[in-house]
Amino acid sequence: MKYQLRCKKCGKVIADFATWFRQDQQCQCGSGYAEVEYTDHSPFVFKPVDTDSYQDYYFDILPIENRDNIVSYGEGMIAMERWDNLEHYAHQKGVDCQVFVYRNDCNAGSGSFKDISAALAASVLKEHGVKEYCLASTGNAGVAFATYLAKAGIRFTEFAPNCIDPATVEAIRKVGQPVVISKGGYGDAKKEAADYHKEHHVLISGGNTDPLRIESKRLLAYECMRQIGRMPSVYMQAVAGGTSPLALEKGIRDLQAEGQQVALPRLLLVQQDECDPMVTAWENATAAGFPEGWEHQYEAKHDIKTQIGILTAANPGNYPLVAPLVRKSGGTFIRVKEAELPRYGKEMQSSRNTLMGPASMVCYAGFFQAVDRGLIKSGDTVLLNTGEGSNRAQWFRNLVDKEM
Ligand SMILES: [Zn+2]
Repeated sequence: MKYQLRCKKCGKVIADFATWFRQDQQCQCGSGYAEVEYTDHSPFVFKPVDTDSYQDYYFDILPIENRDNIVSYGEGMIAMERWDNLEHYAHQKGVDCQVFVYRNDCNAGSGSFKDISAALAASVLKEHGVKEYCLASTGNAGVAFATYLAKAGIRFTEFAPNCIDPATVEAIRKVGQPVVISKGGYGDAKKEAADYHKEHHVLISGGNTDPLRIESKRLLAYECMRQIGRMPSVYMQAVAGGTSPLALEKGIRDLQAEGQQVALPRLLLVQQDECDPMVTAWENATAAGFPEGWEHQYEAKHDIKTQIGILTAANPGNYPLVAPLVRKSGGTFIRVKEAELPRYGKEMQSSRNTLMGPASMVCYAGFFQAVDRGLIKSGDTVLLNTGEGSNRAQWFRNLVDKEM
């Protein structure tokens, strides 16, 4: 066995994913947060890429025992492109930096940054003979899991909030997987998924700290080393739940364990003003001077009006883990105006000849603000981890088209 899991709460070792699934994805202490550890810490050797599957390329440092179980559509080996239009903007403001964009819209599965997680989950579930799985999601994750689990021959049930867009429902049903649409919002959908999990003994995705999600997404740190040759000094992302920052930090710890001299970039995490519970909590903590226990002071937002279905985590349950990481990194949370996103879409179309989805645009707009506010400095290497393409967001394309 090349890996084991260790409980983040009590430190107990859980032998493997078979045990983890048998224990209903919990440690005996009741904690649902465990991390994968590898027995071999020899440095990962970056060979020339001859595959479009990251699970194939990074097989030695993933918790899969048999390559035959890899479920892939070609994801994860996507480009980090240098975007000179963003560098020019910064330069005009007196900041000389390099800017890379991680193109998750180029993932072949469903074109979002959930493909990477769903692909590994499908492989590991297949390896352990799991037949059924479920998840509550606002869109991207549902499509990605439905797609990959269908390929693995695993039945998947998506629990969706009432605001889910029809294109997403269609994409899930198209691969033959059922969608249960709640009468309520995301919170209600989550509860319905949890009830289904309990009543029918169906495994459920473990949320933002699920070791399968963390293990797959942590490879972003390795992709930085492979493609840029170093860790960026600034990392930007639109954040809903916040798995990716936790995963990046885990990847950096793994690289450090291999003897690499790498450090956590400054995390600049962006939310749109129509759903910004983490930004609000962070602003309150900053104003109060980060008093003892500050990371537990946050509130769910009510009456969310955002149109960006995939960024509607109104109750930021992961904030107590993500916010201390942001602080440790010397980063901050940024708020952008949702009403201005179509203008940035227009800018991206004219300068890059492409248009990403609205969640990606939250991150993109955040870059301009970060430059304006002096959060990016000369000499920085900035990485924008963009979430999705715009193919399932016709409403956003229409708004961009209306921009003059
Ligand atoms: Zn434990």
